[in-house]
Amino acid sequence: LYVEFDLAAGTSLTLGKDQSLYLAAVLRKAVGDDVVLFNGRDGAWLCRLTSDSKKSVTLETIERIAPQTPPSDLWYGFAPLKSERLDYVIQKAVEMGVGTIQPVMTQFTQLHRLKPERLSANAIEAAEQCEVLNVPTIAPEVGLGPLLESWSDVHGDRKLIFADEGEASSSPVAALEQLRGQRIGLIIGPEGGFSPAEREKLHALPFVIPISLGPRILRADTAAVAALAVIQAIIGD
Ligand code: SAM
Repeated sequence: LYVEFDLAAGTSLTLGKDQSLYLAAVLRKAVGDDVVLFNGRDGAWLCRLTSDSKKSVTLETIERIAPQTPPSDLWYGFAPLKSERLDYVIQKAVEMGVGTIQPVMTQFTQLHRLKPERLSANAIEAAEQCEVLNVPTIAPEVGLGPLLESWSDVHGDRKLIFADEGEASSSPVAALEQLRGQRIGLIIGPEGGFSPAEREKLHALPFVIPISLGPRILRADTAAVAALAVIQAIIGD
């Protein structure tokens, strides 16, 4: 379970109403039961319930069972998709070890009213389910134009991998192997893809590396998972 509290030996902590209800009523945890807590800073801690009221569960730390993993430097920018597909890409980005997730508004982006708290809640839930001790940062949404204009100021020498279905369908392996050891980001377009002007702009930038994910047009959510999988397989930690 993800908590905001600091975790250290000899700590007693009382959870808020929602998490107390979740532990006591949904997971049916009772006094004496163990739960693993993490906060993205102090590793994973085995904790024991010392009181189990549905309104406020209290736990005490027993021992640290895993050290904190170092934060991931992988940046993932995506044009927000509608409803479940948005939840899906956030979950998969967490599972695939992304460090920062940033919504990028493009010309054909269909979803314009994003709820950052929903993105964060989704990321935390995915981290809990997959024992990811680093919950990615959800960066504020940005337009594609400003993102690209400020890229070098904000990201320094980070390269931007641009998944482009119009790229000649050669394997992405050679392009990615060139990037081993470098700081990288990945950008995926919306349901309608990038506009011709956006694609032209991306292709012209020196820090952008276009890659193909094969000759078929993939759904944006599939493309995100496929691209993150090849990136992690070839140049991941
Ligand atoms: N209309 C479908 C949808 O609703 O998901 C397909 C959208 S596809 C155009 C969206 C994005 O996925 C593209 O902008 C690109 O970033 C990525 N993509 C899809 N197929 C790809 C491929 N074969 N190679 C590289 N990127 C791809």
